[in-house]
Amino acid sequence: MTQAFTVKDYIRTIPDFPRPGILFRDVTTLFGDARGFRMAVDQLLLPWAGTRFDKVAGLEARGFILGGAVAHQLSAGFVPLRKKGKLPGRTIEQAYDLEYGTAVLEAHEDAIRPGEKVLLVDDLLATGGTALAGLRLIERLGGEAVGCAFVVDLPDLGRRRLLEDAGHRVHTLC
Ligand code: IMP
Repeated sequence: MTQAFTVKDYIRTIPDFPRPGILFRDVTTLFGDARGFRMAVDQLLLPWAGTRFDKVAGLEARGFILGGAVAHQLSAGFVPLRKKGKLPGRTIEQAYDLEYGTAVLEAHEDAIRPGEKVLLVDDLLATGGTALAGLRLIERLGGEAVGCAFVVDLPDLGRRRLLEDAGHRVHTLC
């Protein structure tokens, strides 16, 4: 009998990266396996069957890899939400808190048209700060942030509630 793998089985945990004491969930092993990658993209789509999306917004950088594949499956456009200073056109920016300090996320100001339905995609939900900033950018551009999808939810941080309390539908795989 062949062993049934789940998405979680393809994710590697690397201790002490990027700093001592941090357990880093490395999804490159998931992306690198044809079956694992297809499984992840298919499962990210599951709750949205029958929903029409105009755009998928991906968070830099692993959200680009997943979001591009999800956008292709949905026949939607793709919008990169990038760290400050990377996008060439006119942008709007959204600051958010990190463990130490703050960071800024940017979107092209014409990336989403008012009323467009948008799905936010990233690899991992930790404190939820990055995702909330992305959702805020979508809304400030006039888009409707219908929901968000992540491969990994770090439940010990319990921040999924942060997004749900802000009115967003959250889907995670493991
Ligand atoms: P948050 O803003 O604290 O929710 O952090 C989520 C962001 O940090 C996402 O864009 C993730 O790609 C990245 N991130 C944080 N921890 C990890 C990890 O263990 N593995 C992969 N990405 C991580």
